[in-house]
Amino acid sequence: MKPFHELYYFIAIVVAFIVFSLITLAAMNCGADELWKVTYYCSCERCCGKWADGHFASGKKVYDGGIACNHLKFGTVVVIDGKNYTVEDRGSNRYFGTKENPIKHIDIWMASHQEALEAGVDYKEVTIKEYKERL
Ligand SMILES: [Zn+2]
Repeated sequence: MKPFHELYYFIAIVVAFIVFSLITLAAMNCGADELWKVTYYCSCERCCGKWADGHFASGKKVYDGGIACNHLKFGTVVVIDGKNYTVEDRGSNRYFGTKENPIKHIDIWMASHQEALEAGVDYKEVTIKEYKERL
């Protein structure tokens, strides 16, 4: 029976190694949730140019809680600092990427240009409540 004992030890070590690897990988995946660049804009011509008509690209009238993101479907809800925001708008591909080349950059709509200016640039944790890729 002794050789079997050794085999069990070997199996136990291999299993422990695999479990340990999986846990490490899972932990790394969680850590890979890097910060998103968060900027702020309003509906004025300086921020939106010819698109400054008081509506988001989704067609909805602007409202507090609307954000721009290029690779998430309109209506996708994300949480930033405990507040819910909804993807309603798009930005330039250069700064916000595309579906094929997503950039972790969100533009948060604000009621006034002054507020948007003062809010500046942040790097924040963004949690996507329900992932909906742009079609
Ligand atoms: Zn503005």
